[in-house]
Amino acid sequence: MTKRILVVEDNDLNRKLFCDVLRASGFQVEPVSDGNLAIERARAFDPNLVVMDIQLQEISGLDLIATIKGDVDLSGVPVLAVTAYAGKGDEQRIRESGAEGYLSKPVSIGPFMAAVRSLVEVRPVTTATG
Ligand code: MN
Repeated sequence: MTKRILVVEDNDLNRKLFCDVLRASGFQVEPVSDGNLAIERARAFDPNLVVMDIQLQEISGLDLIATIKGDVDLSGVPVLAVTAYAGKGDEQRIRESGAEGYLSKPVSIGPFMAAVRSLVEVRPVTTATG
């Protein structure tokens, strides 16, 4: 089944790059340029993964991640944060927001797709083994 990925990124070139690469890998992609619409679009699109830019125009991606992780319907959706931040404290803050994955810009295609694939893998809720 085709996996759906919501791409929240206000930079036109980055958004197009992420979407093109994901589509080329067979994912169904929903681009969102306005962070204020991210939660509404996530509800409508029911994504298997959210790629979240941290630096958005009017809202912090950190706040959006916290909203997703605190939402009864969306909390199970993994989030891959992408950020221009460089410091160790910044990565810590992103992890604490609840994001499962983190990449710093500039994002290379190889690590990006590896992170995406690891996060959209089907993970069993319970295991029958052992
Ligand atoms: Mn941005």
